Amino acid sequence: MKLSAFKNLPPPVRKILAALGILLAVFVISVSINDAVGFSSRFPTWRSIYSLLSREVPQVSELAENTAEVHFIDVGQGDCALIRTTDCCVLIDCGEYDKFGNVDRYLNYLGIKNIDLLIMSHAHSDHMGCMYRIAEKYNIGSVLMPEYSEDNIPLSGSYTRLMDIITSRKIPVICAEKGKMLNVGENGRLEVIAPVKDYDDLNNGSAVVRFTYGNVSFLFCGDIEKDAEQDILDSGADISADVIKVPHHGSGSSSTKKFVNAVSPQYAVFCTGVNNDFGHPHANIVNLYRNIGAEILRTDTDGNIVFSTDGEKIQTGTQKGQGSAPALKDAA
Ligand SMILES: [Zn+2]
Repeated sequence: MKLSAFKNLPPPVRKILAALGILLAVFVISVSINDAVGFSSRFPTWRSIYSLLSREVPQVSELAENTAEVHFIDVGQGDCALIRTTDCCVLIDCGEYDKFGNVDRYLNYLGIKNIDLLIMSHAHSDHMGCMYRIAEKYNIGSVLMPEYSEDNIPLSGSYTRLMDIITSRKIPVICAEKGKMLNVGENGRLEVIAPVKDYDDLNNGSAVVRFTYGNVSFLFCGDIEKDAEQDILDSGADISADVIKVPHHGSGSSSTKKFVNAVSPQYAVFCTGVNNDFGHPHANIVNLYRNIGAEILRTDTDGNIVFSTDGEKIQTGTQKGQGSAPALKDAA
């Protein structure tokens, strides 16, 4: 309809058409915001959100009682995971320096202001490049991280600035030691699986943690390599998990058959960037998980990935595809 034709319509008809236009615009914005944070219609609670045409921001921040969510936030080539229960919030890694906007926007969207436990798996920038910015902005309860000796203490600016903030704000630091148990709210438990010993290599020295909620468990492996995997197996720790954050972005130097069989996951999550320089994930590693029956989920192709559990069943939701998430891709 041309503008002149619109003007020639009777005023009541113009008002009705204008109102319909506004409703359509609100619907488009609502769906765009949904896509930006990443929810597929596989999630029943989110499916209903799509039907609420007039709501500008879906109320996904309302977590159901006796439910835990684990989000794998797409930060390109890097790791970032969020554990969320009704009474606790844990952030594990956060990606490179320039991914702060992605993580910040995601946390804002969920209405998160306090991070009860901030975990740094290890001091490589693809895991903690923007962590000092997170620590600057959010209220941090405590930080869990590997203990670095004089010989292997990281020298990066990101690490130094994080340590400065931790010191100046007197944020308690928990040293990642095998066997340490932490509560995640009233119903969740977090066990430190590794490091089981000192390593010269930062990857092998990653903090590996297992989150358990009821009968459901998630294993977050940082960037451990074959050596640390073997040490974990030798330690006798229970590493069985329904969901594994695959070690080292699916590198061929990790995920030995023995380790993967011991975990025996139902879902394997690969945190990798699109067309990354490292060739992650390695095709053989993807096939290894697929061949034991695990469903493969990847941040490079699925975008943000979310799991929800009542402690018995697991539901998944994914953002699906790069093109649907412009707001998360142009982060500051
Ligand atoms: Zn990494």
